[in-house]
Amino acid sequence: MKKLFFVLAFAALFSVSLSAQKCLPEELAFKVKREAFSNSQMDDYAQWMTDYLGSRLAGSKQGARAEKLMKEKMDQIGLSNARIVYAADFGKGGWDNVKNYSAMTAPYYCSFTGNPKAWSGSTNGLVKGEVVLIEAENEADLEKYKGKLSGKIVLLPPAGEYVMKFEPLANRYTEEDLVELAKDPRPAATVRRRMGMANLNRVINAMLLEEKPAVIVSDGGVFNVPRSTSSSYKAGDPEPPAQLVLPVEAHGRMVRLIRKGVPVSMEVEIKNEFSPCKEIRNVIAEIPGTDPQLKDQVVLIGAHLDSWHGGTGAADNASGCMVMLEAMRIIKSIGIQPRRTIRIALWGGEEQGLMGSAGYLRNYLMDKEKKTKEFDNFALYLNMDNGSGMFRGIYLEENDMAFPFFRAWMGPLESLGFTTLTPRRTGGTDHVVFQRSGLPAFQFIQDELEYDRSYHTIMDTYERLSIPDLKHNAAVVAWLTLCAAMDDNRVPFKP
Ligand SMILES: [Zn+2]
Repeated sequence: MKKLFFVLAFAALFSVSLSAQKCLPEELAFKVKREAFSNSQMDDYAQWMTDYLGSRLAGSKQGARAEKLMKEKMDQIGLSNARIVYAADFGKGGWDNVKNYSAMTAPYYCSFTGNPKAWSGSTNGLVKGEVVLIEAENEADLEKYKGKLSGKIVLLPPAGEYVMKFEPLANRYTEEDLVELAKDPRPAATVRRRMGMANLNRVINAMLLEEKPAVIVSDGGVFNVPRSTSSSYKAGDPEPPAQLVLPVEAHGRMVRLIRKGVPVSMEVEIKNEFSPCKEIRNVIAEIPGTDPQLKDQVVLIGAHLDSWHGGTGAADNASGCMVMLEAMRIIKSIGIQPRRTIRIALWGGEEQGLMGSAGYLRNYLMDKEKKTKEFDNFALYLNMDNGSGMFRGIYLEENDMAFPFFRAWMGPLESLGFTTLTPRRTGGTDHVVFQRSGLPAFQFIQDELEYDRSYHTIMDTYERLSIPDLKHNAAVVAWLTLCAAMDDNRVPFKP
C-alpha cells in the first residue's frame, strides 16, 4: 500500500513536471518572431507614446489624456473590454506645469534648463532679484535666515558632491556577467541596513515652506539635466512656493560664485496649475481565454503608464507600455485562441508608490484580508520597467518552482540572446506588489541603455529608446505570454 502510494505520487509528480516542460510548436514561435520583426509597430508606438502623449505625471491633465488615448489604442488593436478603471484614492491631486523659465542675470546673463518640482507653486509672474544662498552646517545656523526670506530667490546648498564617472553611458551584459547573475545569492544573503537619518536639507525645506520665498532653487541630476521630483504637497494644503530643480552644473556655478563673494541675480517665471484629481487609474484590456476549464485564469502583462514630468517618460516607462502593447498586438495578429485569458494592465501612479498595481491587488485579488477567486485564478505576471535595453533573461524572485516552466518556454528565445534564468529578486516596481503576496510575478534582466543617468529627468525622451531592443522584448513577452496562456499547468504560487 505504502509502496503503491509512493509509485502513484512519483508518477503524478513526474507527469506534472513533464507536461509543465512542454513547449509550443516551433511554427508558432516563427509566427511570433515574424510579426515582431517584419511587421513591427514599435517605432510608431514609440513616437506616439513619447512625442504625442508627452509626460504622464500621476493626477495630471496630460496623464488623463494619455489614459484616454491609450484605451482608444487598445480598442484599435482589437483588444477586448478596454477600460480605464479606478485603482486608488490620490491625495496629491492634479498638477500640470504650464510655464517655466529661469536664467542667471548677474554677473552676466545665462539661461538655464530647469524643471519645476511637481506639486510646487507658481511665481508671481516674472520674479527678479539677488539670489540668497542658504549655508548651514546644523539647525542653529538657520536662525540667521528666519524672517528674511519672504519674496526672495533662495538657493539651497548642493545636495551632494559631483563625482566624475568613468563608466560608459550604455552597457550590455557580457556572457560572464550573465553567468554571475544566474548564481543564487540566497546563501550569502545579509540583513538589509536601515536607512540613514533625515538630513539637514529636510529641515531647511520645512523652514522655507514657512518663510514663503518667491522661489526655492535646488540641484539634482547630472550632465546639465535636471531631475524630476516633487514637493510634499497634499490636496487641501496651502499652495507651496515655486520650487525649481536646476542641473548640478547650473546650480554649482551660482553656488561657487556666491561663495567667492560675487553677487548673483536670477529671473524666474513658473506657472503651475493645480486641479482636482481624486484617483489613480489603470488602463486594462484583454484577449479572452477560450478553454472552458482555464479561461478564468489570467496571464497578466504590464508596465506603468505614469511618468515624471519634464521629459516624456520614454525609457521610464513608455518603453514598458509599448512592449506590452506590441506583445498583445502580436498575439492578436497571429490569430491564436489562448486557453487562458491574457490581460494587459498599464498601471497608474507607480512613481507615487506602486499605487495602480497595489490597487489592482486590493480591489480584485483581495476582499479585505481574504483572497478572492481572481487571486486563485492568477496565472502569471510579467512586468517591464528598466528602460529600453533588450531582455537577456528573467529574475525568478526566488520562486524555484518557476524554473522548469521558463526553461521549457524559452527554447525559441535562446537564439535572440534570451538565455538567463536567475533566482534573484529585483525590486522597485509593480511586480513586487504581486510577488510579495506569493504570486508568480517577474521582471526581466535588461541591458542598461543610458537608463541610470536619464530616468526621472527631462532627457527621458524618444532619443533614449532603442527600437531594435524593444522589438526583441515584444517578441519575448508575446512568446512567454502565449506559453503561459497555453500550458497545461501554471507556475505554482510560493507556499
Ligand atoms: Zn518606472
